[in-house]
Amino acid sequence: MSAQHILVIDEGTTSTRAMLFGVDGKLQGSQQEELLQYYPAPGLVEHDAVEIWDKTLRCCQKMIEQVGGADKIAAIGIANQRETVVAWDKRTGEPLCKAIVWQDRRTAKTCDRMKAESLEPMVQAKTGLLLDPYFSGSKIGWMLENWPEVRAAGDNLAFGTIESYLIYRLTGGQHVTDASNASRTMLLALDGNDWDDELLSLFDIPKQALPQIVDCAGELGTTAADLFGSSIAIAGSAGDQQAATIGQGCLAVGQTKATFGTGAFVLTNSGDTPPQSDNRLLSTILYQYQGQRIYALEGAIFVAGSLIQWLRDDIGLLKFAGESEELARSVADNGGVYLVPALSGLGAPHWRADATATISGLSFASKKAHIARAALESTAYQCQDLKTAFSADGVDWHRLRIDGGMVVNDWMVQDLADILDITVERPEFFETTALGAAMLAAVGCGIYPSLEAASVMISGLDVHQPDIDPETRRLRLAGWKQAIDSVLAR
Ligand code: ADP
Repeated sequence: MSAQHILVIDEGTTSTRAMLFGVDGKLQGSQQEELLQYYPAPGLVEHDAVEIWDKTLRCCQKMIEQVGGADKIAAIGIANQRETVVAWDKRTGEPLCKAIVWQDRRTAKTCDRMKAESLEPMVQAKTGLLLDPYFSGSKIGWMLENWPEVRAAGDNLAFGTIESYLIYRLTGGQHVTDASNASRTMLLALDGNDWDDELLSLFDIPKQALPQIVDCAGELGTTAADLFGSSIAIAGSAGDQQAATIGQGCLAVGQTKATFGTGAFVLTNSGDTPPQSDNRLLSTILYQYQGQRIYALEGAIFVAGSLIQWLRDDIGLLKFAGESEELARSVADNGGVYLVPALSGLGAPHWRADATATISGLSFASKKAHIARAALESTAYQCQDLKTAFSADGVDWHRLRIDGGMVVNDWMVQDLADILDITVERPEFFETTALGAAMLAAVGCGIYPSLEAASVMISGLDVHQPDIDPETRRLRLAGWKQAIDSVLAR
């Protein structure tokens, strides 16, 4: 069989990529383009969906050229930044406005008002989500209310998350969304097959503008023949964090992964029953295959790698991201310095959109290295706070699989194992998000009969054990608690 490659579109927050995988899971090539970030005002984050489409298409075309034509590709799999919303004209596929990105906080007041009206328990019981600007529903409502061109599109109006927009463009007009992405909109009940009328009316969203909800693996669509020379089946699609959970092989109940990229996202496989959190964690669809859903419990931290980026690009504390590791190793401890990175509020388990960041414990003895170390340490502390919340919800992490751009930092990885006090496993191949999308596509096009069978595509693991004395760990966690409590008290 000649079509033995999977083409993955990994559309992230900061870049879009096309990656070529063999059916053995080996990466054979990759094309990447950076995406422009638009920050029109504090708290507002936008993307240009035309740019996302153009760059994605160009990356795909280059990969297809490299492999020798579309007939060498068995299927396409997609993983995407979640919650970000695009509004477009169904006739042309052209966006009607900028896309509102998941980090955008413009709907904080709407969410606060809804909370004041005691709507959160109903929303949480149905969707597994909390009333926060992070999710798509309030962003769609905002577009309809504030951008006249969106409302004016009438029957031609289409909304979708990024994978939905890409599939629309790739297929030349198929308006679908996979269940994992749909579960992040706040418009789908976890056990519902279609958009929920009560939730739609909460944000005043017309159902006909929304895509059809489909499986994460299977015949999701076929690319328009003129794009790549001949048609290719789109056979896999999932939100990036769900894809990473699959790519980490967390296919059994209780298995947990944490991705440390721009933010940090921890997901535990919960099997076929939606988990219910009493500790402000999220319940979400991990994937849907042949109409059957598997769920996950999720903790989302908004600032992880972006803190390192900010210290490098805006503050000038670091010349390059890896310098954070050199600096952290250059001092014996944090020197009493703690950094609470609430640069865009705090996510789980606190959910305080209004919180701001602090650096505390400074003295003349503090060096730049202490601040860099405190920055890296904050990742482990935030993760420990999630571990406590998961545990209170009855989900204990026995070991943690990690990935994302930050885990090249060996110091941070060991610090995670030390603070969490569990075994941390880092795969030899870090690109688990793309691998998860490749696994879904391989199952969706029939190469493997199940995700379990597709796990042969996963690489080996590099294992880190805790290596810290308990008293040091206790004192460090006590210092963090004091720092975060003072942020929460403000
Ligand atoms: P995303 O998929 O969210 O765009 P990535 O998974 O590509 O993000 O990770 C990029 C992040 O990793 C950046 O925010 C960057 O600051 C961080 N990062 C990269 N290298 C290091 C390093 N050596 N130490 C700490 N953080 C790093």
